[in-house]
Amino acid sequence: MSTIVAIVGRPNVGKSTLFNRLTESREAIVDPTSGTTRDRHYGKTEWGGKEFTVIDTGGYISGSDDVFESEINKQVKMAVDECDVVIFVTDVTTGTTHPDLAVADMLRKSKKPVLIAVNKVDNAMRENDIHEFYGLGFGEIFSISATSGAGTGDLLDEVIKYVETEKDEFDERDTLPKVAVVGRPNVGKSSFINALLEEDRNIVTPVAGTTRDTIHTHFNKFGFNFWMLDTAGLRKKSKVTENIEFYSVLRTIRAIEECDVAILMLDATQGLESQDLNILHLVEKNHKGLVVIVNKWDLIEKETNTAKKFEEFIYEKTAPFKDFPIVFTSVLTKQRVLKALEEAMKVVENRKRRLKTSELNEFFLPLIDEFPPPAIKG
Ligand code: GDP
Ligand code: GDP
Repeated sequence: MSTIVAIVGRPNVGKSTLFNRLTESREAIVDPTSGTTRDRHYGKTEWGGKEFTVIDTGGYISGSDDVFESEINKQVKMAVDECDVVIFVTDVTTGTTHPDLAVADMLRKSKKPVLIAVNKVDNAMRENDIHEFYGLGFGEIFSISATSGAGTGDLLDEVIKYVETEKDEFDERDTLPKVAVVGRPNVGKSSFINALLEEDRNIVTPVAGTTRDTIHTHFNKFGFNFWMLDTAGLRKKSKVTENIEFYSVLRTIRAIEECDVAILMLDATQGLESQDLNILHLVEKNHKGLVVIVNKWDLIEKETNTAKKFEEFIYEKTAPFKDFPIVFTSVLTKQRVLKALEEAMKVVENRKRRLKTSELNEFFLPLIDEFPPPAIKG
């Protein structure tokens, strides 16, 4: 199980600045498509050889200048329920404010580890002002400057003490492939899973936060044998309404990190939106296999090459990452539903493939002969 670190705090303390500092350099390397990063509030990062996921919970509050306390509380509560470690960010220039106290109250009731970061400590003078934050009761204070990065190393040293590196039991026990079905709400994920299981399973999601795990279903039919990781039912029964996006993002991250191959489902009538690309890049960044399903294909009026054009459109958007199958399905008419699974299993097999060095050389050496790398200054 991967570790999720949530950055929480009232607006304007510097959460997103800290988030960017923790994730940006990595994102910049792996994600050349600017524009898709804009509305992303989660990212993978690495410190001291340990990888974890960081979430900027502030990104999920609308109108951050005018946020009601209850809204902040809800956000904090959810983050605390779903995450493994909380970084509680405060602002040295304002001291502890009423909303800080409210956040602290909720965090104190949780059993999750909370690290308190006092931000905007840009100079030594401000170090003198951090002491009042001890009053919040979270022990050691990490004074940081998110803009310069000062102090963030110490903070991360502490964070990674909570990062699990061991594989969990589930992983060790099981050698069957794990397939995650992910995508935006309403694209047809539950319908897809129900069609496969051939039963109208009512996925009862208990009160938000009481269960962290994605639903695992052992699928052993039609010659397929794998674990299906399913985030679909989440929306339906959970009590959370306002923060659905945040909630489903958390679950999606978990499912993707745990799976071998992700089936990313799109809605043919809606095309490919930035949220879809975000999920796709998350799959890519986690080095997982990918199958894209374009569902509700029955609703599309088809001419010659409609599917081909759609395919080209998707690959254009995801370039240079284009090496994944796309399947056009209609869960409603059960068209190509099994084909999607077939593709997923092929991807699982492909991921196991190892090339011999000799094969690699055979392929590359003629190419290198043809286009020798430039010799700069000898
Ligand atoms: P959020 O609402 O908590 O996500 O806060 P932001 O990250 O948007 O930051 C709010 C404001 O504080 C912005 O103007 C930032 O430039 C500023 N800020 C963030 N970190 C620091 C810091 O370390 N020092 C100073 N002086 N300003 C900071
Ligand atoms: P989820 O939120 O991704 O789990 O989506 P659902 O499975 O709940 O589906 C959302 C809606 O899309 C439901 O009304 C489904 O009946 C409908 N739907 C799902 N798949 C298809 C499909 O292939 N064709 C059509 N026309 N509707 C579909």
